[in-house]
Amino acid sequence: HQKRAQKGGVGIFDESLREQLLREIRLRDHLENAIHRHELFLVFQPILEAKTNRIAAVEALLRWRLDNEYIPPDEFINIAEQYGFIKPIGLWVLGEACMAGKRLQQLVPDLSVCVNVSIQQLLDENFPEDVKATLERTGFRPENLHLEITESLFAHDKHRLIENISRLKKVGIEVSIDDFGTGYSSLSVMQEFDVDLVKIDRTFIWTMDQGGRAIVEAVSQIASSFGYQVVAEGVETEEQKQILTDMGIDYLQGYLFLHPVTEEEMVEHLNIQAS
Ligand code: C2E
Ligand code: MG
Ligand code: MG
Ligand code: MG
Repeated sequence: HQKRAQKGGVGIFDESLREQLLREIRLRDHLENAIHRHELFLVFQPILEAKTNRIAAVEALLRWRLDNEYIPPDEFINIAEQYGFIKPIGLWVLGEACMAGKRLQQLVPDLSVCVNVSIQQLLDENFPEDVKATLERTGFRPENLHLEITESLFAHDKHRLIENISRLKKVGIEVSIDDFGTGYSSLSVMQEFDVDLVKIDRTFIWTMDQGGRAIVEAVSQIASSFGYQVVAEGVETEEQKQILTDMGIDYLQGYLFLHPVTEEEMVEHLNIQAS
């Protein structure tokens, strides 16, 4: 890339960089009004208890359809964070997830709902109150709400995070560390932050035949010794499922069981399980 840019002045590198910037600006401009335009919606993916194969929880995953194009969350969440839209969007997601969770609990009364939150939300001093207010407004039970945090927690104001997590725990919800093992200092996270659950990153699950297995095993053992429950995400094959179950991993999530689906499809799926 570098070479082309240097040689031609305005080479392919500049062109693709320009396109990337234009796309980002276009997405930013649309994302600001995406909630009001009803372009955002949630899909749900089940999390199974490994021992029983029972659906214990669903993870709410945000989708954005813009002019018949699906923008991947890894792309637009980033833009939302960068341009200051993540707090209103995150709060909207939380409300929608709790309302959907309430409806799905008519089929599975103790179903939990996992919601991804951005570190910016977690750093906001109003966040614990916002969560509490959302639970009250929707009537969703706090103990069934799990908030998933991805980013390396140590890169931010530690005192604020510890305080907000502790305030959230007082509201009665559970907190999970998502994509565990990919961030910096992840092992000390377990010691310093009062979390309930760790989700081992899917890249480790996919490389269990090339050494990833030792990592999954180690993380799982350490997590258990701290009293945390463990979820393996990205489970795609029967073989992975077997290995993880034998290892004593508590919960499994992945395409092997179900892709993320709409609420209607999730209802059908839960109905089949119940019958
Ligand atoms: P995540 O929280 O780690 O979510 C799991 C991602 O893995 C989802 O991608 C899911 O569709 C995908 N996945 C699940 N099982 C499998 C599998 O077996 N194989 C493969 N290849 N993939 C699997 P998705 O929906 O594209 O979301 C990507 C990321 O975007 C999420 O990763 C999360 O960090 C973020 N995200 C999604 N919704 C929200 C949201 O409402 N708020 C925030 N802050 N972030 C969100
Ligand atoms: Mg997640
Ligand atoms: Mg994850
Ligand atoms: Mg992630």
